[in-house]
This record gives sequence, structure tokens and C-alpha cells, in this order.
Amino acid sequence: NAVPPGIDPDRLAELLDRERAGWIEARPRAVALHERARRSQVHGTPQHWISQFPPPVPLVVDRAVGARLYDTDGHEYADFGLAATAALWGHNHPAVVAAVRDQLDRGSVTLWPNEDHVAVTEELQRRFGLPFWQFTVSASDANRFALLLARVATGRQRILMFNRAYHGSLEQAAAVLTADGVIPEPGVEPNGVDVRRTTKMVEFNDLDALERALAPGDVAAVLAEPVMTNGGAVIWPEPGFHAALRDLTRRTGTLLVIDETQTIPAGPGGCVREFGLDPDLITMGKCIAGGIPAGLYGMSGAVAAAAARYTEHGDGGLGSTMAGGPLAVRAMRAVLGEVMTEETYAHMNRLAERYQRDVAAVIARHDLPWHVGRLGGRVSYAFTPTPPRNAGQLYPRVGSSLRDALWLYLANRGIVLNGMSGAALMSPMTAESDVELHGTLFAEVIGALTGRGE
Ligand code: PMP
Repeated sequence: NAVPPGIDPDRLAELLDRERAGWIEARPRAVALHERARRSQVHGTPQHWISQFPPPVPLVVDRAVGARLYDTDGHEYADFGLAATAALWGHNHPAVVAAVRDQLDRGSVTLWPNEDHVAVTEELQRRFGLPFWQFTVSASDANRFALLLARVATGRQRILMFNRAYHGSLEQAAAVLTADGVIPEPGVEPNGVDVRRTTKMVEFNDLDALERALAPGDVAAVLAEPVMTNGGAVIWPEPGFHAALRDLTRRTGTLLVIDETQTIPAGPGGCVREFGLDPDLITMGKCIAGGIPAGLYGMSGAVAAAAARYTEHGDGGLGSTMAGGPLAVRAMRAVLGEVMTEETYAHMNRLAERYQRDVAAVIARHDLPWHVGRLGGRVSYAFTPTPPRNAGQLYPRVGSSLRDALWLYLANRGIVLNGMSGAALMSPMTAESDVELHGTLFAEVIGALTGRGE
């Protein structure tokens, strides 16, 4: 875990110790609850990876309101983590709350369709272009089902992903690219599927490698984020990348699945609409139902027709009893109709620009070889001098203790960033004063870490 250039390692170690101790000291109830949780949960957290977040004991939320969190020890935070985009519109957006409250009285699961389903799929058609849509419980499931249909439609087994992309908890995707080819992600073997046989990987923005990987004609689908968000940074496609990706996939009979789960902050029709993309399938989830578990996948008429053999006869592997439940669908209708509007995006973009400017000014003032990227309402810094071209470049990870120190310094003073990557998201409920506070604190902590003051 190397310390990025410009940062004094001794100051960093001291600051990290101090912030960790301060976090624990001010949170006796969170510490007690964590002790209790350890006796019935793996690592004392409800999902094991929450234990990898920076604080020594997790933030225990008493309530989440608007773009704010209130913890069980009485602390208040501006929430820029927003549940990794799942709470992108702010916690309990009034339009979503009203819709869900009403729907609770009308039934929360029936396994029959209602008018909301059609209103939602018509609106998705309009925004994202693809004609046919299906509901799932999560984005992970949307990707799992999109890949299954792609294999059925093409008769091919393999998929291709970009190195270090994250598309949810899929066995086929738990892989990394090394000099010796694709191997299972560290720690996940045995994995049920042999990723060396199921999964091809190339680096994002590497069109030559992509062309070579697709040439044998054995890949069912390329699964890609339109802009990579999972390397802990915003990684933009280079000019011409998407046109070439589409062309190469078409020429080799490979389907293209665009995963919009994390790129909805780009605009009201995601990157698909912003960039004018033309994929065969689209997947999403998280924020689409405003905080109620939900996912979606859309497909072209050709995919729907080619997969008809499966969808007409197969009754396993595709779907789930709770998928498209009335609560989620009613919430989606409210999100699409009342929340994902041009005004919402204008607010998110304006605040994100300010946040990015504040960070860029501190980086410039201290002459740090770092960079801060933005995609609509999402902002994220990387400890690389130039914007990364791919996520592989960000490994081995540099600066995870720095990331922890920044996270803790800010959180101890009322600002919460994404626990995994340090990315920040703006919601329509985010206040400009919180963005301003972040700018002040960021300048302060970098001043302390470089030893050169603010
Ligand atoms: N796709 C992308 C791009 C993601 O970042 C994630 C989760 N971070 C998923 C899919 C899976 O979402 P979920 O964990 O909600 O199933």
C-alpha cells in the first residue's frame, strides 16, 4: 500500500491513527452494536464487504433524510456516498415516499401485472431506445439474466468484460486479467464456474485487444459500463471507442450489453442517451426505484426473438418471485415521472462542477500528481497524474491508507463519501453549503498531509 507522491508518510500515519481513535471515541453506541453484531454476522457486518470500509467500526445509521445521515450516537452527516447511487435522488424523496405509502395499502406483492408495469416499460423504451424490458430484484440479477439471454440468443458460452469492471455478484465476472490471462479474483476459487473458460477480459479503451478477443467468434456478449466507474475513478472512453466497440461486436455476431447501473448520474437517459449508443441489451438497478430494491434489463427485438426458445419453455434461471413487485414498480414510475427530470440533473451537475473545481484547486495549489474526474453528478479523484485510460492501471492499489485517512477526516467532521472508492455523488437534495464544507475540509486535510498548510 504505497503512499502517493506529495504526501508525507509520517504525517499520514499519525493523522490516520488520530482520526480512527476520534471516530471510536465519539461513537460508544456504534462500538457496542458492532461488538454485538460480531456474534451473529460475518466480520460483524450485514454484508461482509462493509467491513472493508474505512471506519474501524461501521457508521450506524439511525435515520437517513434528504441527503443527510444521522447516526446512532447523535452525529449528523452530509451524505455524498448515497448508497453507491442507490440513494441518488436523496433518501426518501417525497415523490417516492408518497407513491410507496399509497401502494402499501394496495398490495406489495401479487405476481400479477398492473398498469404501472406498462407505464414504466413504455417510458424506458422512450428514454433508452430498446423495445422490450423485464424486471428483476437487483442490478446483479439484471446482468445475470442479460448474459443468460445473450448466450441463448447466440449459442455461445463466453462473455467478455473489461478488466477490473464490477457488474454485480456474478460467478463469471469474479475474474481479473493478468500477464498469464484471466484468473479468478484473489480468494474466490473454487468459484462454481471456471472463469478461464467462461470469461475473456481486455483493458478498457484497448480496441486492438478487443478485436483479437472477439475474432474467433466465440463470445456471446460484451458486458460494459459506458464510462467505467468501478476502478474507484471516472474512466472515460476515448474518442471513437464506443463506435468501434459497436462495430466490432456487430461484425463478430457478438451482442453488446451496456450496464447503466452506475452511470444514471450522467443524464435522464443515462449514457445511452447522452452518447447516442445502440446496444442490444441494457441493464440497470440501484437508484431506478428510489431506494426500493429493483433492477431492469432491456433488449432489442432481435434478442427477444432469438431468446424466445428459452423464454417460452425455460422456467428456471430467469426471474424471481419478487421481481417487478408493485412497490418497486410504483416507485420506478414516480422516479421516472417526477424525479429523473432535467431540473434534477441541472442541480446535480452544478454542484458536481463546484465539488470538482474545489478539489482541482487544492490539487493544483499543492502541485499533487493527482486528478479529479466527473460524470454528471459523480465526482471521484484518482492518485494518478493523468486521467486513467483503464482500471487495470489503478492496480496494485496505491493510496488506500490515504483514502481511509481522507474518508475519516471528512466523516469526523460531517461529510460522508462512498465507503469503497471515495467517490462523491450529488443528489437533487444536496445543499451547496455541504459542497462548500467539503471544499474547506479537503483543503485543510491536504494541507495537514503535505505539511504545507492550506
Ligand atoms: N453494475 C454495476 C456497474 C455496479 O456498479 C453494480 C454494483 N456496484 C452492479 C451492477 C450490481 O448492483 P447490485 O449490487 O445492486 O446488484
